[in-house]
Amino acid sequence: VNKIKDFLLNLIFPKECVICGYEDTWLCPDCYQKIILVKSPTCPFCKRLTSKGEFCPTCRRKATLTGIMIAAYYETPLKEIIHNYKYKMVKDLSEPLADLLINHLQKFALPSNPLILPVPLHQKRLKEREFNQAALLGKKIADIFGLDFDDELMIRKINTKPQINLSGLERKENVKNAFLCINPQKVYKRNIILVDDVCTTGATLEACGVELRKYNARQIWGLVLARQ
Ligand SMILES: [Zn+2]
Ligand SMILES: [Zn+2]
Repeated sequence: VNKIKDFLLNLIFPKECVICGYEDTWLCPDCYQKIILVKSPTCPFCKRLTSKGEFCPTCRRKATLTGIMIAAYYETPLKEIIHNYKYKMVKDLSEPLADLLINHLQKFALPSNPLILPVPLHQKRLKEREFNQAALLGKKIADIFGLDFDDELMIRKINTKPQINLSGLERKENVKNAFLCINPQKVYKRNIILVDDVCTTGATLEACGVELRKYNARQIWGLVLARQ
């Protein structure tokens, strides 16, 4: 049935590479190869080299998160791919995008037995968008590595303004107290990986981290495709 559905959908909306238009795929291998990967992770604040994106000893004091793992650079073609995934709702792009994150984690060693949590969308936003782009990525990562995944543990209780036109300080204020962990026992002494598609200042990930830290989570990592 799914094959027939795919076939019919393909007649009405033919698949083509969102970058170059190559037929029968949303992202062709050539365009995927052009994504610029992060080879030397840095401290998310000061950009000093660190082994996998953890905060350096100086910046650690200002952060709740352990670090932010960033898989690639927000440049062509990745930024166009993310845009198609997020705003044009090309859901199938979650496959190659999750692969980027999976490859990154394979290179830079996971914290032991982490719980994978996507950054939640507010219910209203989820209805508009139909899927949580971060949850699809997180689920695929969890499946590949055989890890626990929970997309209901964290709730976005405030429908925050889009961060896009806000300054660093405004972003922090905007997402402060926006998140709620509804089952604290599940994070107690666990390593956590918070998955999102992109981050900018890291304020959203940090706000999730603050909530999880209340319940004694161990290491709390952010994991994103790129930094905007
Ligand atoms: Zn292409
Ligand atoms: Zn630093």
